[in-house]
Amino acid sequence: MSTPSDDDVRNVIIIGSGPAGLTAAIYAARANLEPLMFEGEPSSTSDQPGGQLMLTTDVENYPGFPDGIMGPELMLNFRAQAERFGTEFVTDKVTAVDFSTRPFRVWVREREYRAETIIVSTGARSLWLGIENEQRLTGHGVSSCATCDGFFFRGHHIAVIGGGDSAIEEATFLTKFADKVTIVHRRDELRASKIMQDRAFANPKIEFLWNHTVVELEGTEKLEGVVVEHVETGERSPLPVTGLFVAIGHKPNTDLFQGVLDMDENGYLETRSGSTATNIDGVFACGDVQDHVYRQAITAAGSGCMAAIDAERWLEANVHAAAPAGASG
Ligand code: NAP
Repeated sequence: MSTPSDDDVRNVIIIGSGPAGLTAAIYAARANLEPLMFEGEPSSTSDQPGGQLMLTTDVENYPGFPDGIMGPELMLNFRAQAERFGTEFVTDKVTAVDFSTRPFRVWVREREYRAETIIVSTGARSLWLGIENEQRLTGHGVSSCATCDGFFFRGHHIAVIGGGDSAIEEATFLTKFADKVTIVHRRDELRASKIMQDRAFANPKIEFLWNHTVVELEGTEKLEGVVVEHVETGERSPLPVTGLFVAIGHKPNTDLFQGVLDMDENGYLETRSGSTATNIDGVFACGDVQDHVYRQAITAAGSGCMAAIDAERWLEANVHAAAPAGASG
């Protein structure tokens, strides 16, 4: 892999290599912007190249794949397409940024890179329980995305962990497929909005297990059951579920941009309505890092395309560095 010279000022640096970042790279590369992408650290489970889809198995809702595709294969395809048009990759994690003056500056430890525009596509991570076997069984009965994986649990008994809007929404959605959904919550009242609570209480397929947490996951190849523990008495009992959806919240990967880019109260980057523009002129954001509502690969890819077009137009208007080739293909 060639590494860029410290003196280079790139047209565009893309930070993050999930569906949003790689789509931005495909569009930017086809517009002759020669994007430089920081794709993350292979050794990390949360900042790995390819993003959250690297942790999923079958993806059946990405258009264009009528028989479905494995998440990692889909991301390798995205990457190959971005590379084909000249995206340059740095397989490492950005450790610091300075967007206070242009060209913008980005560091990987001691090494500095510069660019006229930045596309932030660092994604979000699901919060996990952090118990043994959880990561090993992810994609094998354990999931954090009902929209992605619910279909595979037709006729199952599923546990959903959490008491917020996400947990209730996921549980309600999962009743389309599952015979029974047990919401396991660590307190005896929900945090979710009243209307969503009412919907869940009225759903005959949903049961609640109050004041419990999941402490053990059973199964070697796939999930075969869990052990729950009462938070006050410590009493443990088995719960014979074959699906476990962890819905205890998401965290956007925005630590790097604290005090630099505008964020909402949950840390998601704010973008101007109908655009991917952030509060800093020339810095754009796309994908889950700025979307806590849809969080789908296809919506992330769509916003990545928008970010590349926004960056190209910004360069044309402000730097005249962009080649005239359109990003409309
Ligand atoms: P959340 O509101 O932070 O709720 C997280 C839930 O998980 C809480 O009930 C919490 O318990 C529980 N929890 C946290 N850590 C846990 C752990 N280690 N073990 C067991 N349980 C744990 O997160 P969210 O539900 O993802 O919602 C995030 C934001 O998005 C909220 O503002 C929500 O309103 C919004 N949202 C809206 C919709 C919608 O309107 N359709 C859908 C989804 C999300 P405690 O209650 O005891 O803290």
